[in-house]
Amino acid sequence: MKSLSDTYVLKSGTKMPGYGTGTYGLKKEQDCRNSVSWALQNNVRSIDCASAYKNEHWVGEEIKNSGIPRDELFITSKVWNAQQGYEETKTAFYQSCEKLQTDYLDLYLIHWPCPKAERYTDTWKAMIDLQKQGKIRAIGVSNFYIEHLEKLIEETGVIPEVNQIEYHPWLQEEALIQYMREKQIQPESWSPLVRGKILQEPVLLQLAEKYHKSSAQIVLRWNIQNGVIIIPRSSNLSRVKENMDIFDFSLSEDDMELIHGMQNGYRNGFDSNEYHFDANYKEVARQ
Ligand code: NDP
Repeated sequence: MKSLSDTYVLKSGTKMPGYGTGTYGLKKEQDCRNSVSWALQNNVRSIDCASAYKNEHWVGEEIKNSGIPRDELFITSKVWNAQQGYEETKTAFYQSCEKLQTDYLDLYLIHWPCPKAERYTDTWKAMIDLQKQGKIRAIGVSNFYIEHLEKLIEETGVIPEVNQIEYHPWLQEEALIQYMREKQIQPESWSPLVRGKILQEPVLLQLAEKYHKSSAQIVLRWNIQNGVIIIPRSSNLSRVKENMDIFDFSLSEDDMELIHGMQNGYRNGFDSNEYHFDANYKEVARQ
């Protein structure tokens, strides 16, 4: 990836930008509007949304206000855990489209596998049908481990195009990424900055000084050099610009290795096998 507008070609032939902006946790209206509009004004064209973030209506309005033609944008959303199931997923999809003011999505993801609920295969079947109808350009999953991917593929024969996972220098998920590469499932990193928690790590500070960049830029650059899509989120204009200013330098192989050495298995989010909703759709844990 050499520039902000570079894309990866997914299995369906859909081109997905390697850089996008995230929208998790933007619960205050102005923060959400600023974050989305500043990203768009600064040439970001991919927006990662989810019905669970409860801000798709503001995101949709900011997209509309931007005046950017729909076909120049790449909009992702996710079906929430409590809406898993064949019919429920279709309903959830149309609800997200309405809020986002669009009649199709570029990418739709299953937010969490919730394996104990045993509904992700039916959810996936609805997504396959929506893609066949031209309502979704690419379909994928999020937070899926190898066993969940294997089951989905075995039961439907359709391989997800993307798996959006927690991925950063502390949690590099090497076995999962290798499996995904074999199946041509594009990795996408959520919380690439570990919500700021990783930024004071000595290795990153040392590399920041060496490359005259911030530690956030070092982490984001490491991601793109690993071929992983990033969707950092900020509602601060200078940080929105800082995060995308990562295309004028390269980390050397030795420095990539230094960051590789940082992994310690730290997981900021939930374990996908434990995170689920019960038979009455009551959530057992929340992210
Ligand atoms: P990030 O790792 O992107 O970190 C965001 C936080 O870091 C914010 O508090 C932001 O604060 C701060 N920040 C941003 N840029 C910088 C910088 N340059 N220097 C210092 N601090 C910075 O966390 P997210 O959890 O938001 O992950 C990114 C996106 O991934 C989400 O927004 C969402 O779209 C997606 N996601 C998906 C999940 C899933 O289950 N599929 C789970 C979680 C996230 P400030 O706004 O003040 O700059």
